[in-house]
Amino acid sequence: MIIGSHVSFKKDMQLLGSVKEALSYGSNTFMFYTGAPQNTVREKIDSELTKEAYCLMKENNIDPNDIIVHAPYIINMASQNDFAVTFLKEEIKRVEQLGLNKLVLHPGNSVKLTGNEGIQNIINNLNQVGKSKVMILLETMSGKGTELGKSFEEIKQIIDGVSYELGVCLDTCHINDAGYDISNFDQVLNDFDQIIGLKHLRCIHINDSKNIINSHKDRHENIGFGNLGFDNLIKIIYHDKLKNIPKILETPYVTKDDDSKDRIYPPYKFEIAMIKNKKFNPHLVADIRNYYK
Ligand code: FE
Ligand code: FE
Ligand code: ZN
Repeated sequence: MIIGSHVSFKKDMQLLGSVKEALSYGSNTFMFYTGAPQNTVREKIDSELTKEAYCLMKENNIDPNDIIVHAPYIINMASQNDFAVTFLKEEIKRVEQLGLNKLVLHPGNSVKLTGNEGIQNIINNLNQVGKSKVMILLETMSGKGTELGKSFEEIKQIIDGVSYELGVCLDTCHINDAGYDISNFDQVLNDFDQIIGLKHLRCIHINDSKNIINSHKDRHENIGFGNLGFDNLIKIIYHDKLKNIPKILETPYVTKDDDSKDRIYPPYKFEIAMIKNKKFNPHLVADIRNYYK
């Protein structure tokens, strides 16, 4: 099983800090933003820190091919947007400098355009970005607001229009919120295979959802505490056809206590333990608070 979570990538420690954080959760892969996801300010990559990170990965059997970078979500590839194209090109260079090869991208928001116009812009922009050693993985979206990529058909349309190979990142919370029935996952996977092709599937975001199917909300919940449920998520994680695909948790941090609103404790160590044991822990939140306090 290749499993990990979202981790931080901080100025001072960069990839080395990310690897250390992932190891502290019992992960053998991870995902990160190269800077704040809500802006495009980016630090130079420090090659010494990268080298040290690779030593630590080797010692711990982390394969760099399984590591995922997430592009910032403020760039909108569905608008006619030279900045987004330039930024994505630079981001791909940073991913290459880090020796990595997978970049998750939210397809974009149509805003005031029609869905079709938005998708045409995404295709044109991605064709301008051009082919590289880094594979862009289009993330399946919940359909909140004017989000594109909310159906397998929309993802397929983008893949077909782009002149080089794209991958897909399936997000379990997003597809539930987009209207796919996770409790019948074999059917969902079948549809994915028929419409997009399973060979494009390169990453899975494992999240429970605070909302019911078809809600178009996109609010993640801790594993087993939402509407997808522990057993359905375990089936996906251990699915025979998905063995070699990196699985990344993006579940919410836990608050210090019931009265507090600040989410400060990462849940991943305890969620990953639950997944490895295949046993739901109803005391997850209490255990996390106890461990980090
Ligand atoms: Fe995402
Ligand atoms: Fe996601
Ligand atoms: Zn989400």
